[in-house]
Amino acid sequence: MKTIIEPFKIKSVEPIRFTTQKERTRILKEAYYNPFLIRAEDVLIDLLTDSGTAAMSAKQWAGMMEGDESYAGARSFFRFEAAVKKITGMKFIIPTHQGRAAEKIIFTLIGGKGKYIPNNTHFDTTRANVEFSGAEAVDFPTEEGKQPEVIAPFKGDMDIPALENFIKKTGAKNIPACFITVTNNSGGGQPVSMKNIRDTKTLLRKYNIPLFLDACRFAENAFFIKKRERGYADKSPLQIAQEMFSYADGVTMSAKKDAIVNMGGFLALNDDTLATNARNLLIITEGFPTYGGLSGRDLEAIAQGLEEVLDEHYLTYRLRSVEYLGNKLTDAGVPILQPPGGHAIYIDAKNFLPHIPPNQYPGQAIVAELYQAGGIRSVEIGSVMFGKYGKDGKLISPPMELVRLAIPRRVYTQSHIDYVSEVVIEVFQRRNTLKGYKITYEAPQLRHFTAHFKMM
Ligand SMILES: *Cc1c(COP(=O)(O)O)cnc(C)c1O
Repeated sequence: MKTIIEPFKIKSVEPIRFTTQKERTRILKEAYYNPFLIRAEDVLIDLLTDSGTAAMSAKQWAGMMEGDESYAGARSFFRFEAAVKKITGMKFIIPTHQGRAAEKIIFTLIGGKGKYIPNNTHFDTTRANVEFSGAEAVDFPTEEGKQPEVIAPFKGDMDIPALENFIKKTGAKNIPACFITVTNNSGGGQPVSMKNIRDTKTLLRKYNIPLFLDACRFAENAFFIKKRERGYADKSPLQIAQEMFSYADGVTMSAKKDAIVNMGGFLALNDDTLATNARNLLIITEGFPTYGGLSGRDLEAIAQGLEEVLDEHYLTYRLRSVEYLGNKLTDAGVPILQPPGGHAIYIDAKNFLPHIPPNQYPGQAIVAELYQAGGIRSVEIGSVMFGKYGKDGKLISPPMELVRLAIPRRVYTQSHIDYVSEVVIEVFQRRNTLKGYKITYEAPQLRHFTAHFKMM
């Protein structure tokens, strides 16, 4: 088989700035060892997130010029609405400025004290929005989904027996909706099988609980289904996506992922009353229902991006470029969450740094060192992001300590990725010299964005 190549050529380039290791040591200290507090121009390769960091196509930029900026009833809205409807089949399409705005609206309407929202694994903003409403966010990943080294095709799946037990124990009336996140971002960008989505829906139907998809990476998930699930090899990514959404009663999506744009999102619903209430909230918080916190040009770019993301050459390249980095690291013995996910490689920080306990944040230690050694920005997904304190003030850690190397869409070339693997491997070879960290400042919600750290 020949090398899988980037299915595009480059028309416009953006220089990246080189720094010395000495400069980076100072910059990191001034940022309190938190990569979110580093200036982007001081980063060489930015793998902080794949969210809103994509390169748009010439057609998307052309669409930006075509954007209709009318306050109400803009042509761009109808193009956007048609693109989302074609894929999701939902009746009501509500644009928001990003995914969390859709979450804020839906959980304001269905959440609240005494309510529970199950999910295969909540993403951080989703969990925060559920909890902010007063409801409780509960995760049901499968057993294999919790084991970083196990290789399985659909580690993002929902643990359906555990979900059913929970519904019986909690009472369906206290569960206003159940979510499935595709792909399972916090669980390692792992896909969810069609069978799991279908079976979850069958269970929920029995209890009259609506199913929502958190669909940020629906196209990557659809392509994993095509490649890994029996009966889908001959279906197009669009057909597979359409079937995924056919089991859902609602959708939240950040267009900053699989719509390949820098800003945007939407809430899509089938229920009339819920949609009316959502639009009323939208007007207060985002804007009129035909723009909802976005410009007409953003809506054009999303509509175009949703078409491009389902192209098989794009998806082949996309999944391969992530797997390429994963294979390089695995070959060098670096422990990563297996198999490589759709948008990122997750370093298994517990196995990378067994000498640093979770309450000294091993993931943060790797994040700091990757920046210092190579100017690479990554993010901790472990006790910093999801840690909680018990009544005794002790840290309660999530099951995994991970460092995410997220790959922006269509931005970096193979040599950038080769460089990344060289830096990670070099740090891995001297891992025994890395030290743990402690937190010196933290906010009450989403502390990882603003926390300050000190080396132990
Ligand atoms: C990014 C993301 C969100 C939130 O979207 P924003 O556009 O960042 O507000 C929600 N869920 C998942 C799975 C995500 O990856």
